[in-house]
Amino acid sequence: MKIIQAEVIVTSPDRNFVTLKLTTESGITGLGDATVNGRELAVVSYLRDHVVQLLIGRDATRIEDTWQFLYRSAYWRRGPITMAAIAAVDVALWDIKGKMAGMPVYQLLGGASRSGLLTYGHASGRDNQELFDSVRKHQEEGYKAIRIQSAVPGLESIYGIASNATVEANAGVRYDHEPAQRSAYPAEEDWDTRSYLRHIPTVFEAVRNEFGPAVPLLHDGHHRMTPIQAAKLGKSLEPYDLFWLEDVTPAENPEALRLVRQHTTTPLAIGEIFNTVWDYQQIIREQLIDYVRGAVTHMGGITHLKKTLDYAALYQIKSGMHGPTDISPVGMAAAMHLGMAIHNFGIQEYMKHGPKTDAVFEQSYTFVDGMLHPGDKPGIGVELNVDEAGKYPYQQAYLPYNRLADGTVHDW
Ligand SMILES: [Mg+2]
Repeated sequence: MKIIQAEVIVTSPDRNFVTLKLTTESGITGLGDATVNGRELAVVSYLRDHVVQLLIGRDATRIEDTWQFLYRSAYWRRGPITMAAIAAVDVALWDIKGKMAGMPVYQLLGGASRSGLLTYGHASGRDNQELFDSVRKHQEEGYKAIRIQSAVPGLESIYGIASNATVEANAGVRYDHEPAQRSAYPAEEDWDTRSYLRHIPTVFEAVRNEFGPAVPLLHDGHHRMTPIQAAKLGKSLEPYDLFWLEDVTPAENPEALRLVRQHTTTPLAIGEIFNTVWDYQQIIREQLIDYVRGAVTHMGGITHLKKTLDYAALYQIKSGMHGPTDISPVGMAAAMHLGMAIHNFGIQEYMKHGPKTDAVFEQSYTFVDGMLHPGDKPGIGVELNVDEAGKYPYQQAYLPYNRLADGTVHDW
């Protein structure tokens, strides 16, 4: 079953997406997501200039061998661009294998371990009232678990708030659907960790008072705290029984989580910008986290993320795969198949894509009562509508960045 064609398709329906499409000699096609938010064309070049020619004539059924070949033959291993490119090839090959077998990919990974995937959505507000409205809206849409992000008094525009002032600059696209702005320069946001640490516990107290003790609540610190600040936040949020506290410290230093862990019983999740099992090795082995945030799209595909999650399972650590709108429907579907099959599934992040994106990527996955299911079509169950994709050429877009009050650049 030889691969005879490999195409890299760039489309920008609601945001930029990079998709790899492989075609076999018998006409079976497979899709893989290669989108790296804000650096999309780097992966396009990696694939077009260095990978697609290596795929022509290869046996499409040899998924593990192709993964090892692309990883080891590059010599320059790891990193987001390389691992997104490998992920796209890997998922496209799983898609092809599923179609050849006449089975959804989760069946090939061992079959369903559950009836559906618990998701969480993103509620946010500039004040508590706006936040409560957003929580209610998500509950009406079926979400059972909800991430809580709030503006902080004194700060103009911060991560995760749908009604941020910067929304208008992004042609009205809601910030919770896409923080990357279509512009020639990154938008500037502001930050003050002390104000944030004072304010956030009051928000969770108000949310618990309004919505009761049962609803699973999550929060994302977006890599902004020092270890001792993160420890303090985890401790101060303990009365509000979070499902998880995410990305409290910068991802480059896994040791930082030792100090956080010593001081709080709030569950910790990290790793949406991690790329390989090696990024997780220490924090899984030392049991410094509770959830693995890696995405299929950025962790070398189903093949490598499954190995990482199997390793995590030895330590009772569960999955919490990254799933904002910059993961394309192809990447989301791949995550769903993996989540269905593994034993240690935890929760799946899920933000709905816009109608233009849904028209480009025809999906068979479903979202009912807060639960996702990948569907039972052979393969991953997503097809690319080439005519629709062609309507939306690439547009330059950047994620925002942060400055402190004195002008110092800070982690975003
Ligand atoms: Mg996050």
